[in-house]
Amino acid sequence: MTVFSHPEFDNHEHLSFFCDPETGLKAIVAIHNTSRGPALGGCRMFPYASDEEALRDVLRLSRGMTYKSALANLDLGGGKSVIIGDPRKQKSEALLEAMGKHLEGLGGQYIAAEDSGTSVPDLKVMARHTKHVAGIVEHMGFDGQPSNGDPSPTTAYGVFVGLKAAVKHKLGREDLAGLKVAIQGVGNVGFRLAQHLKEAGAELWVYDIHQENMQRAVGELGAHAASAEDILFLPVDVIAPCAMGAVLNDDSIPRLKATVIAGAANNLLQRPDHDQAVKDRNILYAPDFVINAGGIIDVFYERTGGTSEEVRAHVEGIGRTLSEIFKRSDSSGIPTGTVANTLAEERFRKRAGAAQAQSEQLAGAE
Ligand code: NAD
Repeated sequence: MTVFSHPEFDNHEHLSFFCDPETGLKAIVAIHNTSRGPALGGCRMFPYASDEEALRDVLRLSRGMTYKSALANLDLGGGKSVIIGDPRKQKSEALLEAMGKHLEGLGGQYIAAEDSGTSVPDLKVMARHTKHVAGIVEHMGFDGQPSNGDPSPTTAYGVFVGLKAAVKHKLGREDLAGLKVAIQGVGNVGFRLAQHLKEAGAELWVYDIHQENMQRAVGELGAHAASAEDILFLPVDVIAPCAMGAVLNDDSIPRLKATVIAGAANNLLQRPDHDQAVKDRNILYAPDFVINAGGIIDVFYERTGGTSEEVRAHVEGIGRTLSEIFKRSDSSGIPTGTVANTLAEERFRKRAGAAQAQSEQLAGAE
């Protein structure tokens, strides 16, 4: 297994491999970049088929967090951790405690949050041995309602704000009344996005592999039920993929009828060149790692103790960042995902440059 020459390595600052035979813990923590602050990112537990697969996943996800936090203008770096194992069979309090002890050893360079395969109660177990976990404290949400630490409501609001910015840019309208939107996946984020859109007067189509989730959206919000095959290809204004990644691919892009893509799911583009393929079809894509940053913003303020108003104002900045990306894309002809990557790099490299200049100044003063 290669590390420094791994195709996804991308100059990671720090990688740690944790092993605790007594509890069966095998974990990797990847810290991509801390120029803007400590690396914050989810701790994923998944039955990876190989160590190689786990390493690839953690490197890719960790790098993604650097870009997401920089674009959300947060004083945070990018990192992620993975625990190799089946969360339904191999997760135990002892294993989570062992993970907590290891995280403590990193001294706060990396802060773990909930991810697939881990939950708020799991992170609370890790927190018995470290303060470097986030998303576990009850606080006031962006809407002034009590929050148990689940960032999904804030993520959904951020996607709603970003969707409005995309619709304004592409369709020239601020009023969402009668706007046709198809949502793939009405879980924690998708259902709340549907609620915001319903309140704004949009007409909704939904599909979810879980019948009860779909029926809730149909029953409570008057959404039309769509099928697995149709949901992304309906003649609507906007598609909002809120279930899984890689849905923008060679097969789907030629068949899309919507002119705006604005959804919460991570890694929507199956390959980087699908960014261009979407643009070639004259479809506006709101990059996933920009529009779904509400969750990380929520977690950041939970740690720093921000007010509901501060969280809300910060989340609303997602719309402004997207508008800037759309304008840059129009004027340069470069697709939106690529523009977003460049903008993020400007932000975290500028910060790294400033830190370097400051340390040189201090060294000169000694
Ligand atoms: P969730 O598990 O609560 O909801 C996902 C929904 O999608 C579920 O209802 C599930 O039944 C459905 N689903 C799964 N496969 C499907 C398929 N093939 N077709 C249609 N529906 C399908 O997850 P969530 O927290 O709502 O997150 C949704 C997406 O947004 C995920 O990709 C997640 O990584 C991303 N995301 C979430 C957050 C957050 O704060 N929750 C933050 C950033 C990104």
